[in-house]
Amino acid sequence: FELERLGVHDSVEAVFPPSELADFLADLPLEVGVIGDDEIAACDAAVTLEHREAFLEVDWVHSIQAGVDRFPFGEFEADDVILTNSTGIHDRWVGETVAGYLLSFARRLHDHVANQQERRWDQPEWDEGFTLSGTTACVLGTGTLGSGVAEVLGSLGVRVTGVRRSAEPVPGFEEVYATDNLLEAVADAEFVIVTLPLTDETRHLVDADVFEAMREDAYFVNVGRGPVVDEAALIDALESETIEGAALDVFETEPLPEESPLWELDEVIVTPHCAAFTEDYFRAVGDIVRENVSRLESGEEFYNRVV
Ligand code: NAD
Repeated sequence: FELERLGVHDSVEAVFPPSELADFLADLPLEVGVIGDDEIAACDAAVTLEHREAFLEVDWVHSIQAGVDRFPFGEFEADDVILTNSTGIHDRWVGETVAGYLLSFARRLHDHVANQQERRWDQPEWDEGFTLSGTTACVLGTGTLGSGVAEVLGSLGVRVTGVRRSAEPVPGFEEVYATDNLLEAVADAEFVIVTLPLTDETRHLVDADVFEAMREDAYFVNVGRGPVVDEAALIDALESETIEGAALDVFETEPLPEESPLWELDEVIVTPHCAAFTEDYFRAVGDIVRENVSRLESGEEFYNRVV
């Protein structure tokens, strides 16, 4: 297909200003502009966060996220619409956020921030703080996010193990388990960290059995997708002290409903699906779009093609 008009859909606003990306791509040999829902049909391609029915009328849709579970693959395929995603860019960004969660728990920083809100000088108990060095983190998913988490945590002296579909080794992971051995994989870890995409196979992969298999002093982290975890089972595990705590960036329902008990549980850190936010986000997405515009011109296969 011919690429004459590429629209940056205004739903990307949740992550960065759409005009920043449009300006970044202004030197491409095509018309680039910010579009609302009404203008989708006039484009050949669109860069977006959310899905719209009208995207089935364009030739190519690029997701600014790595996770593409919001797009109906079957309909894209049936209507010959190419879908590409932004995997490959979030490794260190999310890795540093996860390191932040772990450091907060180990060094009690979340308690101090909470106390500070109330002008309360309250030192932790002598045995509350611990050091990350020498602990084990079991990372579910050994792709871009998992590898970025392994790299950052590895630099803090954490021993990192991984879980993937096969038990084939992956650089950066000291030991790798197959998903079939998930319960064994999580058993010895002080931290269990989900970096998995949401698929039919991963939905509720982390359930009550997994929390039961974890250490009582273990922390659970989810930076993948909310429905990979049975959230009711997670809340039960936290309330019954089956596990020690959790840091959660993604949820079964987003925004996290005001009535969710997760907001107020002790030893739970809630962040609003922003583990990968950085001022460089639009540039990294723009580089992928630019690469694919050039591949389209030279007739090569699209980079990061999903459908
Ligand atoms: P990726 O494709 O590089 O890695 C995903 C990994 O999961 C792959 O290695 C894949 O083999 C593995 N996997 C898939 N199904 C599996 C299963 N059933 N058992 C074991 N392993 C399985 O993608 P990525 O860039 O690492 O992103 C992963 C997911 O993280 C995204 O799909 C998205 O949902 C989420 N994400 C969240 C944020 C955030 O802000 N919280 C940011 C980026 C990505």
